[in-house]
Amino acid sequence: MSFQLFGLPVSRGIAIGRAVLVASSRLDVAHYYVAATDVEAEIERLRLARDAVARELGTMQRDMPAEAPAELSALLDVHLMLLHDDTLTGATKQWIRERHYNAEWALSAQLEVLARQFDEMEDEYLRERKADLEQVVERLLGVLARGDDGAPATHAVTPEQSGDDPLVLVAGDISPADMLRFKGGVFLGFVTDVGGTTSHTAIVARSMDIPAVVGAREASRLIRQDDWVVIDGDAGVVIVDPSPGVIEEYRAAKRQRDRGRAALARLRHLPAVTVDDQRVQLLANIEQPADATAALAAGAVGVGLFRSEFLFMNRDGELPGEDEQFEAYRTAVEAMRGRPVTIRTVDIGADKELERMSANELRHEHALNPALGLRAIRWSLSEPAMFRQQLRAILRAAAHGRVRILIPMVAHLSEVRHTIEALARARQQLDDARRAYGSVELGAMIEVPAAALMLPAFLRHFDFVSIGTNDLIQYTLAIDRADEAVAHLYNAWHPAVLQLIAQTIACANRLRKDVSVCGEMAGDPAFTELLLGMGLRSFSMHPSQIVTIKERILSTDASRWAALVERVISADDPERECQVVAAEGAARVATLAASASPV
Ligand code: PEP
Ligand code: MG
Repeated sequence: MSFQLFGLPVSRGIAIGRAVLVASSRLDVAHYYVAATDVEAEIERLRLARDAVARELGTMQRDMPAEAPAELSALLDVHLMLLHDDTLTGATKQWIRERHYNAEWALSAQLEVLARQFDEMEDEYLRERKADLEQVVERLLGVLARGDDGAPATHAVTPEQSGDDPLVLVAGDISPADMLRFKGGVFLGFVTDVGGTTSHTAIVARSMDIPAVVGAREASRLIRQDDWVVIDGDAGVVIVDPSPGVIEEYRAAKRQRDRGRAALARLRHLPAVTVDDQRVQLLANIEQPADATAALAAGAVGVGLFRSEFLFMNRDGELPGEDEQFEAYRTAVEAMRGRPVTIRTVDIGADKELERMSANELRHEHALNPALGLRAIRWSLSEPAMFRQQLRAILRAAAHGRVRILIPMVAHLSEVRHTIEALARARQQLDDARRAYGSVELGAMIEVPAAALMLPAFLRHFDFVSIGTNDLIQYTLAIDRADEAVAHLYNAWHPAVLQLIAQTIACANRLRKDVSVCGEMAGDPAFTELLLGMGLRSFSMHPSQIVTIKERILSTDASRWAALVERVISADDPERECQVVAAEGAARVATLAASASPV
């Protein structure tokens, strides 16, 4: 039966596909298609893993000390029985054979199906056997991951080559690090139960330019494995088991949207200039060096935000060393061919966790409120050796192109001082080691109200600033940006937020320091005119948003908006006022066009 779920629209577009439900704890399982010719070999991998687990369990039973409780041996019997039960391995084989899933993916897909059946059981004893099933699957996944059972090698193919139905991922929660694993993978869209519009999970989904809805509360409980699903990433709606008519309607809407985007793509390499001849810089936000290619293709004139912390994720706790970081930064810098690359020092903490938090592991684990805890520059300064290592890697990359360093979440002048000292020490270390490095500009993210309020003092030490509106909203309004329960209060149109932004842009312009916005507001066309009116001439966003913002810029009269900024931000409802101002402008243009004499 068809039904709808409502969540937060975080990444635009329409995706139509079959649901793949993955438990949040198993998102790190590899998801890929195996070639049709490898299906039998993949089934053999599964069989060998099952035999290996059976041997493991058999050995445990044999070696069990005589004094061990009898229940333990009975439990191992249950595990062996589950292991050989056709509803697990037989059905898993079906996923491999019919859908060409790799063995790990097929196992976790079948586990989701069975886990639901267990949850629905009346009998408590039977219901509790779900935990045993999970343990058996964990053992199988462990053997498959080790790959030490002599299994044949199989090969991954692209979703297109597999010829299978398109797929969308449904999960309770997806961490930003897990989201990154799916980049360029098999899923066409995402739905999660939790999350906010500017949570980093949402940001990574946007950077992948695929439709996503977060905060859809019960989605992972109500959607079943393999259900057909439509994700409307513009409206924040998920339609489960849609009728053929609804699917056709969405297919038509998707085709129309694709045509619109193709038309916009023609603007890619035009300069972004307002109606009154103001030149605007459109920069890209990236997470990985490989994203630089998409940034250039989208017409970005530089990278305004390289979120370097993504280099530190999905590494089983091993942090990248100086040389590895250097290579990553250099790759991005060279890919941008002389255009500036702004590398933000690691912004770890809050919703972006590392598997290992180094010396601060305990302090972090026990952080009562991680968004207000040891995050970003606070974390870097508490790990001086790691911080200098990153600074050295960035300085070395600066020998290969134009590099700017951006410091996240600065709020205290002491942090500014310590950062500058760390940079001087990193340079000294490179001198001592006779290593080449280049010059860099140093900038601060303005994402804490304290920084916005004391900007002149900060600007004595920085070459530029970049406004991180995602956090500025979070910290001004005291709203956790990743918490869907308060998502309705997370409001970029709040007058206090707009005033801090306007004030920051005006102050930086007055002091002749570069200022840009790199938070999600920069890529949201609803704010383009207002930000131009505030005097902003540099916007940094996901590459996929660049042409949309450029189109807006090309039709905006920045000086007209400059005269109206005060009216908008002092209104009770700035969003509404902004729409009124835009409508007045459109009416004026229409009148002028009508009164102009034909040429
Ligand atoms: C911001 O806070 O606006 C920002 C760009 O940084 P991040 O989203 O990575 O916290
Ligand atoms: Mg931020």
